[in-house]
Amino acid sequence: MSVSNSVLKLNNGISMPVIGLGTYKIYGTSVIFSVIEAGLKCGYRSIDTAAVYGNEGDIGEALKILLPKYGLRREDIFLTSKLGPADHDPSRVRAAVAASLDRLGTSYLDLYLVHWPGVARRPADSPDNPRVRAATWAELAALSAEGTLRSVGVSNYTARHLRQLLAAGTGVCPAVNQVEFHPRYRQRELAGFCREHGIALQAYCSLGGASSAGALLRDGTVVSVAARLRRSPAQVLLRWAVDHGVGIIPKSVNPERIAENIDLDFVIPEDLMEILDSISVVEKYSWDPEAVS
Ligand code: NDP
Repeated sequence: MSVSNSVLKLNNGISMPVIGLGTYKIYGTSVIFSVIEAGLKCGYRSIDTAAVYGNEGDIGEALKILLPKYGLRREDIFLTSKLGPADHDPSRVRAAVAASLDRLGTSYLDLYLVHWPGVARRPADSPDNPRVRAATWAELAALSAEGTLRSVGVSNYTARHLRQLLAAGTGVCPAVNQVEFHPRYRQRELAGFCREHGIALQAYCSLGGASSAGALLRDGTVVSVAARLRRSPAQVLLRWAVDHGVGIIPKSVNPERIAENIDLDFVIPEDLMEILDSISVVEKYSWDPEAVS
C-alpha cells in the first residue's frame, strides 16, 4: 500500500492517516486555501491545526469549498485540533472545543489533543499541574464518549506526564502523543513507553521546523543517505519516521514541497536506516516540556 493511503490503527480502533498536513504558522485566507487545495490534490486526507495557530477559521472556510470541489465528504478527512494552554482547565474545555468546532465548520473532530502539559499563567513547576491535567482529561474523555471527539490524545507529554495521567484513573488512555521526533531528537524512552501502552506517536518538526533554519535538512548523514537513494533530505527524514511506526505532519506553504512530502513510496534499506539511527547530534528545535511538573 502507498504510504499516502496508510493508516495507524489507534487504540480506540479508529484509523489515523500516517501522513497529515501541518499548518503551524500558515496564515491568511488565500494562503490557507492554496495549501489545503494543494494537499487535497496530491492525496493528503489529514489536517493538523490548533486553537493557538489562529487559522482554524480559514481552514474551515477552505474545506467548505474544497471538499465538494474534490468530491470529498467531511468523513473522508481526518481533522485534528488542540486545546490551547489558556483553556487547559476542566471548566473551559467544553467552550474551547465548541469554539474550535464552530471555526472549523464541523460537528466533530477526529482527534483532539491537549496541546501542552502546562497551564497558561501557572508556573511550570506548580504542584497543581498534574491535578489540572487529570481533571481536564476527564472532561475530554466525556466529550469522547459523547462522540464529539472521535479520539482524544495529548501533545508534548513526556513519559512522566503520561504515567501521571494513566495513574489518575480516568479509564481513557490517550490515543496519540504528538511530539518533536526526528533523527536528532529520538525520544527513545518516550517512544518505548508509548509503544508499550498502545499510544500512537505522531512526529512534529520532522524537517526541523522553521526555527532550525534548515539545519536538520542539511545534516551531512541525511544528505548523503538522500543522495544514495536519489530522494530529497526531506523525503528521507519523513520516510525514516514512518519506518519507525510514527505518524508525520510536515508543513509547507509551497505546493511542490507539499507534493514531495507525501511522495514517500521508496525503501530505506536496513543499513541506511542504521546509519540514520546512529546520528549522534542531539538538537531540539521546539518547546521543551521537561520542566512542567
Ligand atoms: P516541519 O518540520 O514540518 O518543517 C517546516 C519547515 O520546513 C518550513 O520552514 C517549510 O518551509 C520547510 N519545508 C517543508 N517541506 C520542505 C521540503 N520538502 N524541503 C525543504 N524544506 C521544506 O515543522 P513544523 O514545526 O511546521 O511541524 C510540522 C507540523 O507539526 C506543524 O505545522 C504543526 O501542525 C505541528 N506542530 C505541533 C507542535 C505541537 O506542539 N504539538 C509544535 C510544532 C509543530 P516552507 O513552508 O517555506 O516550505
